[in-house]
Amino acid sequence: MDCTNCTYDKKCRNAETCPATSFGRDEVIQKYGEESAIVQAAADLVDFGRAGTLSRLQETIAFAQKMNYKRIGLAYCYGMEKQVTQIVEILRESKLNVRAVSCTVGGIPQNEINPESAFCTVSCNPIGQARQLNNENVDLVVMIGLCLGHDILFQREVKADCTTLVVKDRVFNHAPLREITDSQKN
Ligand code: SF4
Repeated sequence: MDCTNCTYDKKCRNAETCPATSFGRDEVIQKYGEESAIVQAAADLVDFGRAGTLSRLQETIAFAQKMNYKRIGLAYCYGMEKQVTQIVEILRESKLNVRAVSCTVGGIPQNEINPESAFCTVSCNPIGQARQLNNENVDLVVMIGLCLGHDILFQREVKADCTTLVVKDRVFNHAPLREITDSQKN
């Protein structure tokens, strides 16, 4: 399937199933029934004209409140600690219980995590970061600027529901779409 080169007149946009679809429609709808709390909380962020009125951080807070998540874990890149400190304050002002865990947690050197590394300075430790947040019994994890690959290891290990607030892009100031929009301007 390549929806960007659709040969079915974008039928799906008119709420019709196209022949390229290979999953069971009924089973999917049944699964949404099992996930109705998340479905409704997500809808509440955008329905009835609310779309575009909340920033992603405000959406994260509203979603956490709607889902009744009590304890929020932040898994963050140590390079963004200044901004994360402000995020912690904002979340706490919203009466959320916050646990913030830096990617450097555990203080494990790079050459212990990656035997091919020649460096003995501290490494990112996404598996330890996830296990720490698991031990802190957080209800929701918010990822902030984890490196590509580390984010995958983190998500494989973490037990709580997980969302991304900031995706790391060292070239485009953590806004990967800028690569596309900037090139379209030229
Ligand atoms: S109609 Fe099918 S192929 Fe076309 S965009 Fe929709 S899902 Fe993709």
